[in-house]
Amino acid sequence: YSGKSGPQLLSNLARKKVVKDYKVLPVIIKEASSVYDAVCALFLEDVGTLYVVNNKGYLAGVVSRKDLLRAMLGKQKIEDVPVNIIMTRMPNIVTCSPEDSIFDVAKKLIDYQIDSIPVVKEALDDDKSVFEVVGRVTKTTITKAYVELASGQSERS
Ligand code: ADP
Repeated sequence: YSGKSGPQLLSNLARKKVVKDYKVLPVIIKEASSVYDAVCALFLEDVGTLYVVNNKGYLAGVVSRKDLLRAMLGKQKIEDVPVNIIMTRMPNIVTCSPEDSIFDVAKKLIDYQIDSIPVVKEALDDDKSVFEVVGRVTKTTITKAYVELASGQSERS
């Protein structure tokens, strides 16, 4: 144990820990993929949320476990329903950048009551802002960063 006090641990989390050191690989599907494909990806990749990209590869939406469950309650065959009609879509996606602090991301997860946030890099395409997905931050990521700090394992920064 590092011997740091609670407030010290928290202020370290706030200032020093950045998303790029903790982000994990995003699991991405195309917007034409079916709900069936999305459910398979969720199990195969062992994640709770999938990020959906458009045909140019930029972030278009997010599908969560509950989005998929809701879609499965519908009358339509899930092989025939594309994820882009059930996803939460841009510009309503909460994102973060690789340089953001872990504390800021933790706050967003709480404020927006979501389980994961895509890590993105902004670019311009035909003068429009687009977002390339470069990672994923989840509640697990935050917990890991906190445990590292509290047990004094990490001097990454
Ligand atoms: P679940 O729905 O499985 O409980 P979440 O709590 O993460 O998972 O998702 C709740 C809702 O918020 C879903 O409709 C999902 O599409 C949406 N959502 C998830 N992540 C984000 C995000 N980063 N930005 C905006 N909306 C999101």
